[in-house]
Formats: sequence, C-alpha cells, structure tokens
Amino acid sequence: MECARNKTEKVGVGCIMKKAQILIPKPGSRFQRVQCKECGEESVVYSHVSTTVACKACGNTLAEPTGSIAEINGKVLGSAE
Ligand SMILES: [Zn+2]
Repeated sequence: MECARNKTEKVGVGCIMKKAQILIPKPGSRFQRVQCKECGEESVVYSHVSTTVACKACGNTLAEPTGSIAEINGKVLGSAE
C-alpha cells in the first residue's frame, strides 16, 4: 500500500527494505509436545500461544501467554515438527 504512494517520489528504496523485513520469519516459534504434570496426557502446544492452553484430559493449565514465548506448565517432551 505504502509502496504505491511512494512511486511519485524517489525510486522506492524504502519499499524494498520494508519487504525484506516482512520476509524474516519469527524466530523460535514452534510446536512442542507437552506432558501434563497432573495426569500425564500429552498435548501439542504452540510456543507462542496467545490464550491459556488447558489439558484436554484434566483441565490443568499447560501453557500461559506471556507476550512472547509461552510459559509451559508441564513437561516438554520435545518438538512436534
Ligand atoms: Zn492433565
């Protein structure tokens, strides 16, 4: 959107830089296998959850959003990818 507007100004160097920034993937985000410490049920939890994730078996909180990497309230077994 901004690029189109900038066409009437200098050659869009700023546009190219903005595109490059968008292409950089979010570092460290991944799915993890988390074992509930209450009942042992295994769940797949995203590392950057935005809502609280509860165990599907017993309702114990498995992950809480913190603004960046979720706080995992259980045993992380490894990556789910
Ligand atoms: Zn549980």
